[in-house]
Amino acid sequence: MTGTAPAPFTADDYRARMARAAQAAADAGLAGLLVAPGPDMVWLTGYTPTAVTERLTLLVLAPGRDPVLVVPTLEAPDAAGAVGAPALTLRDWTDGKNPYAVTADLLDTSGRFGISDNAWAMHLLGLQRTLPGTSYASLTEALPMLRAVKDPAELRLLAAAGAAADQAFEEIRKVAFAGRRESEVGADLAELLRRFGHSQVDFTIVGSGPNGANPHHEMGDRVIERGDMVVLDFGGLKDGYGSDTTRTVHVGEPTDEERRVHDIVREAQEAGFRAVRPGVACQEVDRAARAVIAEAGYGEYFIHRTGHGIGVTTHEPPYMIEGEEQPLVPGMCFSVEPGIYLPGRFGVRIEDIVTVTGDGGRRLNDTTREMVLVD
Ligand code: ZN
Ligand code: ZN
Ligand code: ZN
Repeated sequence: MTGTAPAPFTADDYRARMARAAQAAADAGLAGLLVAPGPDMVWLTGYTPTAVTERLTLLVLAPGRDPVLVVPTLEAPDAAGAVGAPALTLRDWTDGKNPYAVTADLLDTSGRFGISDNAWAMHLLGLQRTLPGTSYASLTEALPMLRAVKDPAELRLLAAAGAAADQAFEEIRKVAFAGRRESEVGADLAELLRRFGHSQVDFTIVGSGPNGANPHHEMGDRVIERGDMVVLDFGGLKDGYGSDTTRTVHVGEPTDEERRVHDIVREAQEAGFRAVRPGVACQEVDRAARAVIAEAGYGEYFIHRTGHGIGVTTHEPPYMIEGEEQPLVPGMCFSVEPGIYLPGRFGVRIEDIVTVTGDGGRRLNDTTREMVLVD
């Protein structure tokens, strides 16, 4: 993410988001929200400081009050240029002043506030020292669904990011795999994501052979061999919105077992996708995918949740995981990415971003889910 806000949004869009966030805070019993630079601030205001420094920058949202951005004086001109700036008041503070006293003027002296998870501890401690009657909660824990439901413009951006990632896959399947290092294929993937419009590459996982059985393996020096399964999981940000897709390819002809395991994962991914519709709990998506793998006898080898939300970041709520009872709502976007990981041998994962529609789900990735054979 660079300093530029996604173009499709206007000051009115940000005004509406900030009003919705303030209302959600009130509904959650909070006196307000304190938002540090990061994904929530980008989503609420379109503003990303050029550099995050130790100087306090904080968006203060409280029900019934106008939003205020507390900002260092030297950053104020930049903040005033953000698309959302007309929807808020800037309150700048100059070096030598106490920024917590400036912020305290905007807060209830005895309120409970939601604060960004990525706010610096020194800032939270400064606020607590200045306003000993206040208390604080994790903004993400208090309002996990704040950014979960995407509006039509956000959906278009997520679909465009997904299409760009798909273009990258269509190109990477043509390159040579056998005899090259995972890191070289990963560099190709990163270059392709940028070529197709990504401004930021968050991950390019290339897990060949036994490395594919470790879902956290990124990529390394292993030379890919004929006969390897290769898990390719890649994504990043394009125009401020995320992509994240996985396909598992095979170098040359696969064995019957490799085909069978890939088929099971493909059916599990399809079952997870088909479970998506409004009102269904997130955990039902996980259960639907997991049931296919368990019935095929590989349950113990599916060792992670089925999916995660995506938006202005590539990992965020809602999570498709056992125990998550949050109902799906049209406009939510998340991954469906079951896998089977056979230690020391190979792994298979298939991942699409899916959005909830009025009566089901729609995939934002659409390359083939059949096993692709590469050279
Ligand atoms: Zn093989
Ligand atoms: Zn992924
Ligand atoms: Zn993912």
